[in-house]
Amino acid sequence: MRKSISFLVVASLLILSILPVYATDFEGNENYYIEKCKVNPLPKADVDVCSEFNQYLKNKTDGISDRLKEIEDTLATIEDDIVKIQDTITSLNNQINEQNNQISYLEERIVILEASIEEKDQLIRERMYATQGLNNSNVYLTTLMGATTFKEFFSILSAISEITNFDYELMESLEADKVDVEESKQLLETQKQELEDLLELKEEAEALLLKQRAEYHEEWERQYEQSEQFKSDMEDIQDAIDAGSLNYPPSSSGSWGQPVASGTVTAVGWNYPDLGGGKVHTGMDIGAPVGTPLYAPANGVVIYMYTGCPTLGNGYGDSCAGGMGNNIVMIVQVDGTTYAVKYYHMQKTNAIGWSSGNFITVSKGDLVGYVGHSGSSTGAHVHIEVINLGSMSYSEAASLYAQKGGSFGLSTGTGALSYRCSIISWPCRETASDIFGYSLRQLLH
Ligand SMILES: [Zn+2]
Repeated sequence: MRKSISFLVVASLLILSILPVYATDFEGNENYYIEKCKVNPLPKADVDVCSEFNQYLKNKTDGISDRLKEIEDTLATIEDDIVKIQDTITSLNNQINEQNNQISYLEERIVILEASIEEKDQLIRERMYATQGLNNSNVYLTTLMGATTFKEFFSILSAISEITNFDYELMESLEADKVDVEESKQLLETQKQELEDLLELKEEAEALLLKQRAEYHEEWERQYEQSEQFKSDMEDIQDAIDAGSLNYPPSSSGSWGQPVASGTVTAVGWNYPDLGGGKVHTGMDIGAPVGTPLYAPANGVVIYMYTGCPTLGNGYGDSCAGGMGNNIVMIVQVDGTTYAVKYYHMQKTNAIGWSSGNFITVSKGDLVGYVGHSGSSTGAHVHIEVINLGSMSYSEAASLYAQKGGSFGLSTGTGALSYRCSIISWPCRETASDIFGYSLRQLLH
């Protein structure tokens, strides 16, 4: 029973998540639903509509879905926890119901048994009085009623010749009832203790659920603000392109320059070396102290920069800016080929005074930021990604970024592996360590 109930919960959640979204009601009423859905704890009646609203927001922002996928993953993790706790509470509720049923049954049984004992006791007394009447003696009755156990009772009684089969059976049955009621009472005590334990467990689970829901809403609000900011930044980029800001791009560099002043290469290729090569890693990592200068690796344009995350994040799993933390996106040209170069986990400082939609031209070696420890990062380092954009113009490249956000439409995580330049032609993901000619553990000066 318990299993089938939690299965139903999971099944209905799955169905909810694939239900079509009726966006008409949400369009233009976003602020109303944001206010409605950020209430904590969320009233039960609003759970469905808010889940649909989340889906609506998700669909609305599909153009920059790769960037937002990170956000969804974060929220999905918390949601999973919430579902697990809800399952636990459902199961506890079932156990509590079962326990309550058993307690009611035992209580009823005790009442019936006690009534039966009372009745038999009365009957025996009457029989004794009758016997006494026959014997016309008070001694026997007094002795009999003073007996503490039935054995004693019988041994005294057997002295009385008038004992009948009926009396004997009646008293045996009375003794059995008394044993039964005693056992039932003990069982009742045990059941009540178990019920108390279950109620305590349930209380703990409910407190945890409230806490998780609060965290979910806090995170949701934070992510919503960040994604709104991101979308508006992307619009600014497109507006600036349309206004002709990239009509006079810088000339191409002949070769790549060094991206960071100093440090140690800690991850190359497509996996983290320290995690047994199991986890996909879409860039190259260079460990260096917070504040180490970062340079433009070639002539180009800074098209995007985010500096809203704390310099020191909450470690691995920090979801600020989708885990990228403070980051910069440059379009550069090397030997006539266009590339996007991204640096993640930077310090909060904005070294070049960038603002949304305001492209800044940089030359190879220009200071563009500082190494930090923001976003999902286990230590101060810069994460570098290089995307080959072939013969795209600056405007085309920036436009692709504004439309797709984050990944230039080349996916993230495991999905990114199918967009490697070793497999497909541009736009594709370069192996950053190969581009810069760096190897694992190499020291940079
Ligand atoms: Zn990295």
